[in-house]
Amino acid sequence: MVQEYKLFIEGKFSDSSTGEAFEDINPTTLESLATVQVAGIGDVDRAVEAAEAGFLIWSEIPAPRRAEVLLKAARILRERKEELAVLMTKEMGKVLPETRGDVQEAIDITYYAAGEGRRLFGETTTSELKEKFCMTMLRPIGVVALITPWNFPIAIPAWKIMPALIAGNAIVFKPASDTPLLALKLVEILVEAGLPPQVINVVTGPGGTVGKAVVQHPRIRAISFTGSLDTGKWIMEECAKTMKRVSLELGGKNPVIVMDDADIELALEGVLWGAFGTTGQRCTATSRLILHEKIKEEFIKRLLAKAKALRVGDGLLPETDIGPVINKAQLEKIERYVRIGKEEGATLLLGGNRLDPGLPGYFFEPTIFTDVRPEMRIAQEEIFGPVLSILTVSSLKEAIWAANNSKYGLSSAIYTGNVGNAFKAIEKIDAGITYVNAPTIGAEVHLPFGGVKGTGNGFREAGTDAVREFSEVKAVYIDY
Ligand code: GLU
Repeated sequence: MVQEYKLFIEGKFSDSSTGEAFEDINPTTLESLATVQVAGIGDVDRAVEAAEAGFLIWSEIPAPRRAEVLLKAARILRERKEELAVLMTKEMGKVLPETRGDVQEAIDITYYAAGEGRRLFGETTTSELKEKFCMTMLRPIGVVALITPWNFPIAIPAWKIMPALIAGNAIVFKPASDTPLLALKLVEILVEAGLPPQVINVVTGPGGTVGKAVVQHPRIRAISFTGSLDTGKWIMEECAKTMKRVSLELGGKNPVIVMDDADIELALEGVLWGAFGTTGQRCTATSRLILHEKIKEEFIKRLLAKAKALRVGDGLLPETDIGPVINKAQLEKIERYVRIGKEEGATLLLGGNRLDPGLPGYFFEPTIFTDVRPEMRIAQEEIFGPVLSILTVSSLKEAIWAANNSKYGLSSAIYTGNVGNAFKAIEKIDAGITYVNAPTIGAEVHLPFGGVKGTGNGFREAGTDAVREFSEVKAVYIDY
């Protein structure tokens, strides 16, 4: 018998009003890990009411004291890191070293946000008048809602929850339906660490009903969402109706430029892991390789050899490099894009098919297309799977043009031995992040994370901006 998980409202597990539940499926074995209740609209109301009560308590606690709860949560996360990583591999499939990294990112942002509790700085400035004092201060927003994806089941929730908490907000949290267990574990850890009940409330269920009720709720003051561009656009429109603050971290079509003066071995490793790590299911995944024509032949030959050697299978086994994709719909989407790539006239160099490593799950071969032209759909649309498109260029100028020929702008990278090329790319690539001689993946918590254009609306996560996303600025004038 698999365990049934309830909603988490007012600091305890609580039955949903719908009487419905969904299965949490292991994408490697297709076994059910748990059933999870589906929240109804009334449950979302209950969660908001609880959060409103939680806000009154939490916002009164001085920020350095709020930090003590976070520090304790970080210690618990550290103690339980291995257990959480193993559960994450079962719940969403990525390999153990990556799920350990996911938990570590949660630990890092928790310590970081706790530190920010002593740095919720405002500004002071001069006045045009005498005997007048001018300053700004940060205030919490109130009840904020966090809607998170399945690809980083604990890190992405923590990237939102910890800054929101240190800034003094209360939370309604709607995690992805593919990874509810990790979300509930994180919240249980926060409560164990001393977070007052009601400050964080979890409503599980489909985006189309539960997510919608959260987004449309008139008493939620802000939404922070990570997910697809289409859903993000819809959320932004809905938030306009109730004048909610909205922070969107959406897709990517992240380019890597490899110049003819690059360290080829370094670039090969970066492209390989950027494209196929997490089975290509990262917003920051390398999905376009923009290759200088002078090194094209040699680079592709060596890349194919490395990609062919990748071992796809059960992420719990140490010999596995790449796990399954998350679910059937995602698998079918990848298959669809492989067909589109072929129809558009790109050359399929590797993979392109579903794989059977002796397990029933959703496995797909590492896939590489070359002769990809910038306007092709496989060069423009986010696939979110292990599919790399190679474009060839003859100059840095052309490479930067190709990199920017995208509706997205999250991560980017350039491999070059020439410092001038590196700085030109840093200056000219339209993206929130540019890596030099490193892959497009692997952002750390102390720099801002987010993108431009279709990737989002300008609010950055992590770094010193993190608490700003969840704070209102007040200007104060004092006459004396
Ligand atoms: N933090 C991850 C990275 O930098 C990406 C998170 C995401 O896919 O949203 O690779």
